[in-house]
Amino acid sequence: MIVSSEGGKDSSAALLRICLKARVLQLRCCVPQIKCPWATPQNTISCSLADVMSEQLAKELQLEEEAAAFPEVVVAEGPFITGENTDTSSDLMLAQMLQMEFDREYDAQLRREEKKFNGDSKVSISFENYRKVHPYEDSDSSEDEVDWQDTRDDPYIPAKPVPTPKKGFIGKGKDITTKHDEVVCGRKNTARMENFAPGFQVGDGIGMDLKLSNHVFNALKQHAYSEERRSARLHEKKEHSTAEKAVDPKTRLLMYKMVNSGMLETITGCISTGKESVVFHAYGGSTEDEKEDSKVIPTECAIKVFKTTLNEFKNRDKYIKDDFRFKDRFSKLNPRKIIRMWAEKEMHNLTRMQRAGIPCPTVVLLKKHILVMSFIGHDQVPAPKLKEVKLSSEEMKEAYYQTLHLMQQLYNECTLVHADLSEYNMLWHAGKVWLIDVSQSVEPTHPHGLEFLFRDCRNVSQFFQKGGVKEALGERELFNAVSGLNISADNEADFLAEIEALEKMNEDHVQKNGRKAASFLKDDGGPPVLYDE
Ligand code: ADP
Ligand code: MN
Repeated sequence: MIVSSEGGKDSSAALLRICLKARVLQLRCCVPQIKCPWATPQNTISCSLADVMSEQLAKELQLEEEAAAFPEVVVAEGPFITGENTDTSSDLMLAQMLQMEFDREYDAQLRREEKKFNGDSKVSISFENYRKVHPYEDSDSSEDEVDWQDTRDDPYIPAKPVPTPKKGFIGKGKDITTKHDEVVCGRKNTARMENFAPGFQVGDGIGMDLKLSNHVFNALKQHAYSEERRSARLHEKKEHSTAEKAVDPKTRLLMYKMVNSGMLETITGCISTGKESVVFHAYGGSTEDEKEDSKVIPTECAIKVFKTTLNEFKNRDKYIKDDFRFKDRFSKLNPRKIIRMWAEKEMHNLTRMQRAGIPCPTVVLLKKHILVMSFIGHDQVPAPKLKEVKLSSEEMKEAYYQTLHLMQQLYNECTLVHADLSEYNMLWHAGKVWLIDVSQSVEPTHPHGLEFLFRDCRNVSQFFQKGGVKEALGERELFNAVSGLNISADNEADFLAEIEALEKMNEDHVQKNGRKAASFLKDDGGPPVLYDE
């Protein structure tokens, strides 16, 4: 109102300036209260804004803020109402502020839509990632946000059965008694970056920037671009990913955060849905954070999501409950923590194996019940399981000797028994046998460790013998060859009885002397004996 009396040459320009001015005043009032990165003093972007801001404008704003004592004068001298000012940096800032205002309005609208979308449904979908104004997110803030307790509906059961792809290596076995019987493997590759979210507003800040050479604003532009790209990626995945159907919203959110952080480029689809886990394929991104020793993210990653429903882990708790590494923690934990512990166990076991040079996925990241590791396979096609691949007899023999060696390494160097070793958890990739699925692996001194080993030996032995490998040892010989124990029983019942007797002795020993004193292994790595006595 004050300025209008000044009568600029171009009345519409003056009007625009009034409008901008009003916006500035409005924004100045609200900027400190909102959580916007631009308003945070430590934030680099806000520094950029400060750089952009002209001295004149700063002075003007300050004066206006102080009082209405000299309003006319101040406004009259301000750069905006002369109509001749050619300094565009102030305009730029105004434009940015307007843009921010616009973004905030967009977010408010988004919140309304979110509310409408969710209604009073028990399960709600968050639109948080669509927001334009991103509060600084702490990826750990969601520590206990997940409602794991509600198991009435298993969120992992896809709405529709995942169709078995025509091509690929996924199959089903009839005579198999492991959990894999129930695995319905589906793989769906969603089109990448095809459909940008239609509602995604880019705003006009970028267009404006193109006219300017201010290096600070260039940085802003970069930021805007990457924001846009990131949000678009998120949006696309939210809309199209098969992840949508296979995991619960909270898990999805964690996965999107991985994409959002740039650690993963895209999550392409589901490789496997089992009773206890869902595995996804993803393209690796990069870690921008140079403070952390920036780990190289593999080009292709596998994301193993451990199921968070309670009924599944019950079958398995004998593996972990009696694993002394986890024993103390087990009793104190609630179910959701136990599920995370499965993921943690797999991570530790993989790390041990990696150190011993066993071909296995490398761990990339563990986040709650989600384990990201390197993908064994190529171009989104996972390496076939030994069960599925057709090997020549030469290769089969080779695979057998590799497996024997792997089992020995696992036992002697990693002090681990796989405990679910079979042709389903061995992949054939690049002429090598790769071990996967080690969340249930235990140390040999686990109260049932030797029984697990025996079962592993039986699976391996039968598979290779049926596969025509004449050299393949029988299960009992294999057991002795791996463990270095010398159990001489010549029938299975006696053999198992001896194994159980050993386990019992070991347990008694533990009761008396504590876990550390007991070992089936000699410390010097020599031929294993039952105890060091
Ligand atoms: P589950 O407990 O469900 O059997 P697995 O770890 O065996 O979990 O994973 C299920 C399937 O997912 C595997 O049989 C394999 O086909 C695939 N898979 C798992 N991890 C990887 C990986 N790192 N690279 C490629 N494929 C993988
Ligand atoms: Mn498996």
